[in-house]
Amino acid sequence: MERLLPVIDDLNRYYWEAAKARRLDMLRCQDCRMWIHPPRESCAKCQSFELKAETLSGRGKVYSWSVMRTQGNPGFEEKLPYAVVVVELEEQKGLITVGNIDCPIEDIDIGLPVRVTFEKINDQVTLPQWTVAGGKDGQ
Ligand SMILES: [Zn+2]
Repeated sequence: MERLLPVIDDLNRYYWEAAKARRLDMLRCQDCRMWIHPPRESCAKCQSFELKAETLSGRGKVYSWSVMRTQGNPGFEEKLPYAVVVVELEEQKGLITVGNIDCPIEDIDIGLPVRVTFEKINDQVTLPQWTVAGGKDGQ
């Protein structure tokens, strides 16, 4: 079975274009400076429509996680079991995103420092994913 891929539309295009260029970009309110993710039309805090994509550091901590041991989504059969992590980004408390992590499941814990990596799926889609920060390459 084919893996399900994100649907790219006008509201989230900046995110996928940035990922292709190996950047983690999210919308940021130009009035109150709050980061907004997932994308929406207006700021959740001050209702401003002045939202613009800005680049994040790509660093964060595991906020929560779970392990998929049975097939839920097609295209992941050969990867079972695998972990899905919710990462809280360092820029803002509560700014979270979801992805896979490439470390052994037994190494995952709440608060584990992680950084973004990029998995190219095809010419349209590159997925932001996660790896343990402070690994062998010293990042
Ligand atoms: Zn705002």
